[in-house]
Amino acid sequence: MIPRTDPAWQTSSWQLQLARAFTRVEDLFDYLELNQALLPAARAAAIQFGLRVPTAYAARIERGNPDDPLLRQVLPLAAELIRTAGFNTDPVADQNSAAAPGILHKYGGRALLITTGACGIHCRYCFRRHYPYSEFSIDRKRWNQTVAYLERTEQITEVILSGGDPLTLSDDRLATLVNSLGGIPHLKRLRIHSRLPVLVPDRITDRLIDCIVSSRLQSTLVVHINHVREISAPLKLTLNQLRREGVTLLNQSVLLRGVNDSMETLCELSEGLFSSGILPYYLHLLDRVQGAAHFEVPEAEAIQLHRRIRARLPGYLLPRLVRDDPGADSKVQLC
Ligand SMILES: *Cc1c(COP(=O)(O)O)cnc(C)c1O
Ligand code: SF4
Repeated sequence: MIPRTDPAWQTSSWQLQLARAFTRVEDLFDYLELNQALLPAARAAAIQFGLRVPTAYAARIERGNPDDPLLRQVLPLAAELIRTAGFNTDPVADQNSAAAPGILHKYGGRALLITTGACGIHCRYCFRRHYPYSEFSIDRKRWNQTVAYLERTEQITEVILSGGDPLTLSDDRLATLVNSLGGIPHLKRLRIHSRLPVLVPDRITDRLIDCIVSSRLQSTLVVHINHVREISAPLKLTLNQLRREGVTLLNQSVLLRGVNDSMETLCELSEGLFSSGILPYYLHLLDRVQGAAHFEVPEAEAIQLHRRIRARLPGYLLPRLVRDDPGADSKVQLC
């Protein structure tokens, strides 16, 4: 028998779990007992941006309920096919900001590293749904150029591993990456933006924890949870391990119509995060990406909502309400 602590065994376990995902609309409909009348539109919308729902995530969705807040995040809908003025294919204008292969350096002091185009789930509101991320990601052949940029740009003190989802990379790849970042003297902090722990808590392998905590860089993990029902007992356990090792845990959410656009839902989310050792960081307004207009909560309504949450929750459980403006030198904070 292979012992559970063997890194190879663990790696293959999370990778297998990740591979177990619904990618065919018909299979998801059958499993969730959804109304077949929605199927043709779902098929059409999934041609533009493929369906991907990990089975563990699907298991948390209420059967037969088209309005389930977890389902709404992943179910392709007819509404995605409607073109809406003001919604385009690169709403945050990332394609103009590549500083070096795989690097977006728009803000002072920190740079975003596009480590991969792959994700464990396809969120329908994602601004990357049209973006050629696989072409844009860091790659082994040009990694020297990427490192050279970071080395000569001393102003950068924090590197954010983003994507896609950086934790879809193997532990080996991540270890190599984190090691080489650790060798750049002026870097102080490492941040990882990932939704994977929420989908597959086993992704936080002992090897990954070692790799993060043995680096001289101070580490933060920013997860992406939009609804309290995405928080599971295994997720809490796994995050606890990271927290005990001194990793700061933050969350970012997107404010989404029909998912978390009420005061009660957002308060429950903040409290659920805190009871899992995670602090709310950002509540993003939707990026205005083509095909996601039906998720939008208008800015004035968002600000109202935020005021009401502020009256209910302690300040430290209040995420900052922000918008991503092309050309701005930081997120634009609304509240
Ligand atoms: C969001 C973002 C960051 C991180 O911003 P923080 O305010 O530090 O969380 C960094 N770079 C880019 C390009 C971003 O879009
Ligand atoms: S996990 Fe993040 S990057 Fe991936 S599809 Fe969802 S929102 Fe987009």
